[in-house]
Amino acid sequence: MSGETAPQQPVPANKNPEWYSRCCTDLSKVKPSGGRIDGMKAVLTRASWLWENGRTITVGFVLPVPGTPVQQAKVQEVVKEWEKYANLKFRFIPNGNDAEIRISFDDTGSWSWVGTVALSIPKPTQTMNFGWVDSNPGIADEERGVILHEFGHAIGYMHEHQSPRRGEKLTLNEQVIIDYTQETQGWTEEETRQNIINVYSRAEVSNFSAVDFTSIMMYFMPASWNVQGIDIPPNESLSPLDKSYAFLNYPFFIGTASSDPDVNIQNALNAAGVTGAARANIALEYIEGDWRGLRAEFTRWAVNQRALSDRAQAVSEREEAAPAVASVAEVEAA
Ligand SMILES: [Zn+2]
Repeated sequence: MSGETAPQQPVPANKNPEWYSRCCTDLSKVKPSGGRIDGMKAVLTRASWLWENGRTITVGFVLPVPGTPVQQAKVQEVVKEWEKYANLKFRFIPNGNDAEIRISFDDTGSWSWVGTVALSIPKPTQTMNFGWVDSNPGIADEERGVILHEFGHAIGYMHEHQSPRRGEKLTLNEQVIIDYTQETQGWTEEETRQNIINVYSRAEVSNFSAVDFTSIMMYFMPASWNVQGIDIPPNESLSPLDKSYAFLNYPFFIGTASSDPDVNIQNALNAAGVTGAARANIALEYIEGDWRGLRAEFTRWAVNQRALSDRAQAVSEREEAAPAVASVAEVEAA
């Protein structure tokens, strides 16, 4: 695959620095054929990467490494977690070559295509890969984390650390990261920029929150990697926002309720912080059972939040710039 950026000679698993097991290659940035990325102009366009609500998605295991029964069982078990929060069903079928999400366990690292982009990958090529899910009994926390993360991609989530709003909380020490990944993984600067440093353009993502360090879509990051010195531990479970956004994009309506009674529209809106008219509009779409309308209203709310945040940032930048302007004026006056 031309977009593959995992190392050619993978480091043995026990030599991987801890963060690397969470460092997945996000193939959403690499177009399988012309047009898919280029077509993303409007904020709603990413909605085309989300599956239809309530859909059953077939999943299977394929060559080159379809995995052992233990590896396969781990995936099947962990993925049930997403089914509690998103109104989607993952149906594992015996002939993996026919499945919509096709999983392999080869040594190219852990990665996945994002959302319905998987449908454009020719069968039977894998659409998702797990580099570090092994055949030992029991599901390790790290394995749970990576399975939830890759299936997060599969239902349409992108990397939290590459959010357009990352700069509000986190300034990366780019050279530290580039040197480290070059030394330990043999990545080029470009590969590191694409997988870790670059943020998505605002047009690429439709709804996103202020950066959620606890999201399953956030990489582990040592404190030395950012100016703020924030140590981001590996996330191995879904954050409240991960769950909330899953529900608001894939809502359970009355009659299709989640197995968890706490998963409901009110809790989802509370966690996301949706208030006022937007909340009323979303609630109305929910009552009407219109998931397309609900997604659209939720996206509209997110766009408004973003505009408010941009305006606040512009004001603070202007205020910071003001003293400098004043001193220039003083010099000119003198
Ligand atoms: Zn990822």
